Amino acid sequence: MDASHMGDDLEKVLYTEQQIQDRLAELGEQIWNDYEGKGVLLVGVLKGAVLVMADLMRTLPGSVPMDWMAVSSYGSGTKSSGVVRILKDLDTDISGKHVLIVEDIIDSGLTLSWIRSNLESRDPASVEICTLLRKPDAAKVEIDCKYVGFDIANEFVVGYGLDFDERYRNMRDIGTLAPHVYS
Ligand code: 5GP
Ligand code: MG
Ligand code: MG
Repeated sequence: MDASHMGDDLEKVLYTEQQIQDRLAELGEQIWNDYEGKGVLLVGVLKGAVLVMADLMRTLPGSVPMDWMAVSSYGSGTKSSGVVRILKDLDTDISGKHVLIVEDIIDSGLTLSWIRSNLESRDPASVEICTLLRKPDAAKVEIDCKYVGFDIANEFVVGYGLDFDERYRNMRDIGTLAPHVYS
C-alpha cells in the first residue's frame, strides 16, 4: 500500500481532472478555428507543459506537429529572475511558421516573455501563447496571452504537470499543498 497518496498532501483542489479536460476542449476548438488553413506548430516548454500538450493536442481534430524547448531560469528557489538559459532548443526551423507556445502556468511572466522574444527573433509568421493557468496578481511583465485556461490567485499550485521539488507532476487534479508538506 502507498502510505503517501498524493491527494492527502493537498489543502484544496482547485481544478479537477474533468474541469481541466473540459476547458482544454474549449481552448482546442478556439485554436483549431483560428489556425484552420494556416497550420500551427505547437511548442511546449519542458517539463511542466507535458500534460497540457498531450491533452490539448488530442482535442484538435487534425494533424499538428509539436516541438519542445527546455530552459532554466536563474533565480532563487521558486522565484524566477528572467535570466534564461536554453537547455534544449527546438528541432524545428520556425521561420515562416505560425507558432503556438503551450505552457502550464504564467507566474511573473519573465520566463515566457524571454522565450517569446527569443522565438520572435527567428522570423516566424506569428507567435502566440496558450497557458492552462495564469496568476494575474503575480505578473511582473505584461504578456499578451491569447489562450488562457484559468486565471488563479497568487498561490503555489501543484499537479497536472506542475511540481513541488519534482513531486506531484502526475497528480490528475490541480491544487494547493497542505502546510505539513512544506515543513
Ligand atoms: P515565471 O517566469 O512566469 O515566474 O515562472 C514560470 C515557471 O515557474 C512555470 O513554468 C513553472 O515551472 C514555475 N511556477 C510558477 N508558478 C508556479 C506554481 O504555482 N506552481 C508550480 N508548481 N510551479 C510554478
Ligand atoms: Mg512551464
Ligand atoms: Mg517547477
